[in-house]
Amino acid sequence: MKILISSCLLGDNVKYSGGNNFNQNLIDLLEKYDFEIIKVCPEVMGGLSTPRTPAEIIKNKVITKIGEDDKVDLVILKENSPSCGVNKIYDGTFSNILIEGRGLTAEKLFSEEIKIFSEKELDKIEKFLKSNLKEK
Ligand code: SF4
Repeated sequence: MKILISSCLLGDNVKYSGGNNFNQNLIDLLEKYDFEIIKVCPEVMGGLSTPRTPAEIIKNKVITKIGEDDKVDLVILKENSPSCGVNKIYDGTFSNILIEGRGLTAEKLFSEEIKIFSEKELDKIEKFLKSNLKEK
């Protein structure tokens, strides 16, 4: 099984600010299972540097590459990001207001009908892993 994960959730310093969104609870859950990880930061893959100005632009070919070239069984993306947000994104006014919506990468992957959750949906991730893999 292949699982694609936002690389900032795994501790890569690829956030626009230069930091990361390391998530210990997610790591603890994932460590119970064997699978191949494909970690990506769509914004960095799209050619943006780190640190960078917060932006909502991503080249479509990068999204397509993630969705089509790297066939994956599950995708776990960082909630609230304009690229990776699965259920919520900021409203575009840079005033810290979250609205229902998907980031551009998440939107593309949804249209590819790939199973996709955010790091805030650990219960759903666990359910998926349990029903598809054996615990180590
Ligand atoms: Fe993390 Fe996605 Fe933002 Fe990259 S684009 S820093 S992977 S949330």
